[in-house]
Amino acid sequence: MTTSKLLPDDLSQTLRAHQGGSHENGYFVYDIPALKQHLAKLEQQDVVKLWYAVKANPLSSVIQAVADSGIQFDVASKGELTQVLLQNVEAEKILNTGPAKSFQQIAYFLQQGVNTFVVESYNQLQWLAQAAKEQGKQPDALLRVQLRWPEGEKNPLGGNSLTPFGMGTEEWSGVRANDFPSVNICGLHIFQWGNMLSNRQMFSLWGQMVEPLVDLAERVGFALKVLDLGGGLGVDYLETGQGIDWQQAMADLAQIKQQAGVAELWLELGRYAVAPFGYYVTDVVDRKTNFGKEQLVLAAGINHLLRPAITDQPFPVSLLRQSSAPLADFHLHGPLCTSMDKLGCLPLPDDIQVGDQLVFSLAGAYGFTESMPLFLCHEVAAEYVYDNHQLTEVRAAQPATWYMR
Ligand SMILES: *Cc1c(COP(=O)(O)O)cnc(C)c1O
Repeated sequence: MTTSKLLPDDLSQTLRAHQGGSHENGYFVYDIPALKQHLAKLEQQDVVKLWYAVKANPLSSVIQAVADSGIQFDVASKGELTQVLLQNVEAEKILNTGPAKSFQQIAYFLQQGVNTFVVESYNQLQWLAQAAKEQGKQPDALLRVQLRWPEGEKNPLGGNSLTPFGMGTEEWSGVRANDFPSVNICGLHIFQWGNMLSNRQMFSLWGQMVEPLVDLAERVGFALKVLDLGGGLGVDYLETGQGIDWQQAMADLAQIKQQAGVAELWLELGRYAVAPFGYYVTDVVDRKTNFGKEQLVLAAGINHLLRPAITDQPFPVSLLRQSSAPLADFHLHGPLCTSMDKLGCLPLPDDIQVGDQLVFSLAGAYGFTESMPLFLCHEVAAEYVYDNHQLTEVRAAQPATWYMR
């Protein structure tokens, strides 16, 4: 019997044999060969140009695997840019999104050789034009759009919430592309949905973006060459059995491409590219029953893995050792002195005991860097890669003295 359908047997055996360092209360591990195989599959099509949303997982080994696959990079901060450049990725293969680009940041990105920008405000467009003029460059730019549907009409997004990402079509339609000769405005970017698990829903959503966007490009006065549909292809955190079929998505996008009449369609994949190839492992420190509920207290919780607390979606969990005991629901608590520190209430074998190890799956995205490691002076998680059937430590676990002053 395998411990989990999400954890390959060979990796599972390697993790069971692993003895962590003295500071190790929890660690991440990334299955690099499986990641590479998946990325190669994503690249086997000529419908979309793929970018990797670095915020999903900026670890050097992950960036290198992405770079080897031919997929390019979407960065949203100076730190992400530096991290990608440090892996010897050429700056021309990097695009810059993000709502908080200052003039200084835009000028810096241009100096570093970045030539593609998703512009999220009128100020950003002016600043890009000014920095480009000063540096004698003409970068490509996509205007980022947020769409709303009139009250009462069928809204594919399920609500009209205000975000800082891009601007509405009314706001953009006051812009004239001709007023910015130092910028090559060549496309539009839209991304305002998350973790979609149904091809049909995704197709219907993408389809409804085409008309308002084609219309906007006409009003602003540029030829719509590129349509960037962002990310949002989901992974099945709740183990419902649903998921995006890649071949079907490509067939759907081929239609969208034709409808929009664009030369290029872009996607920026985050979780769909990397989530299934990362795992997080931690120990059971205590077990108790309270008011008839089974509780496990773990060596680490949201200090290493914050996402369940802010999205209400747990990562799937399994027991690392083999067990044929019947399953029971366990409330999984971390070590922080706040009731927020919970990784879910999930089924596990009921013979689980102190000293056992749990493995959380789908933790290749929004794990290590989307956490709150400083609270209560616990350890920073270690990160390992699994390649050639062995674990290699990329960064050891660090005690709080590493960052406390
Ligand atoms: C976060 C982000 C993505 C990736 O999102 P996923 O839901 O992980 O696919 C893509 N594009 C932009 C601009 C983002 O901010």
